[in-house]
Amino acid sequence: MVGDGALDAELMFVGEAPGYHEDRQGIPFVGQSGKLLTTLLAGIGLRREDVFIANVVKCRPPGNRVPEPAEAEACAGFLDRQVDAIRPAVICALGATAVRRLLGDERPLSAVRGRAHQFRGVPVIATYHPAYLLRNPSAKALTWQDIRKVMELARAT
Ligand code: URA
Repeated sequence: MVGDGALDAELMFVGEAPGYHEDRQGIPFVGQSGKLLTTLLAGIGLRREDVFIANVVKCRPPGNRVPEPAEAEACAGFLDRQVDAIRPAVICALGATAVRRLLGDERPLSAVRGRAHQFRGVPVIATYHPAYLLRNPSAKALTWQDIRKVMELARAT
């Protein structure tokens, strides 16, 4: 499965690529990162089923490495069509790979988070990838700020 969740979701979360557990189950964000994403969603009163979750790259890169730009490019049409089909009110880009794909921005997350961007006419808020938060829990406070912004934008549209 290249995505999971509600087809009429207001919020769409875009990660990097499936990991080991996602690859085995065919569902995005079901491993440790997924558990943290579920917790973040619960913090804003949502369940996974209420949002739509997808990845930039649809297959697991060998050895869990960061996807190559060519791999993101190869999957771009899938993600574009997912965004066009769901038409969420807001997209939340999780981590650098999603930022690169959705915003075309190579700068670090700290430079692009905190304000709304656009992808195919949909507002995008960038925040830290859950895997980064597992390694750097102190970035959770900034992530909460970003998630609150996602909610504010969704309410305003
Ligand atoms: N990390 C991602 O970016 N996507 C997943 O589906 C799982 C972990």
